[in-house]
Amino acid sequence: MSTKEFEEWFRYHRIRFTAVDTMLNKAADGPDAVSAKEIKLAWFSALKSCTLDDAKAATDAMHAGLEGDPGWPDRHPAKVAEFCRRKAASRRPATSVYHGGHQAFCCLLCEDYGWVYCWPQEAIAEMHNTGALSTGKASHTVRPCSCEAGDMRAKCFPNVRRYSPYWTLPIGVCGIDDPREQEKLREWLQARKPKNYEDAFADYGGSP
Ligand SMILES: [Zn+2]
Repeated sequence: MSTKEFEEWFRYHRIRFTAVDTMLNKAADGPDAVSAKEIKLAWFSALKSCTLDDAKAATDAMHAGLEGDPGWPDRHPAKVAEFCRRKAASRRPATSVYHGGHQAFCCLLCEDYGWVYCWPQEAIAEMHNTGALSTGKASHTVRPCSCEAGDMRAKCFPNVRRYSPYWTLPIGVCGIDDPREQEKLREWLQARKPKNYEDAFADYGGSP
């Protein structure tokens, strides 16, 4: 998490564990006092690899007594970090799973890659307007998938619009120049029958 997210989490945590403030205030006493700022910095360095959501979930779980005795505030960063590591590990498939020689995926759309290869706006518009595609002109666009693997991509590429089955169509394995894929695009467009195509795309940020 960023420092800003840490600040948000820290306040969230302090509201639930008021002993943190007691600890911070105590730290301010004495000539060789450790400042509250130094303590916060140390907490941040222990927790920066956690996500804000996971860290808040850790606080909630500790607060609700689901993680045993929360102990002294000094131990909280270790508890929160451990909770976040468990949470992150639970999202990753431990190993690739195979069924009858075929690899199994959590998401069949992106095969856990996180990116979906889609028809670009220009090709969709051309198909919509002319019913065909000029050969060799179209190239694909990629969008973060709507699954958990896509969450990670969307987080790393916040300016790339998320895949939406309403606004674009994934390109199948045959590829962009294959007439069968183009036929699928034609059918998809006919099924949607958009009336004001450009206006609709403007609502979606100008590109599918
Ligand atoms: Zn996916």
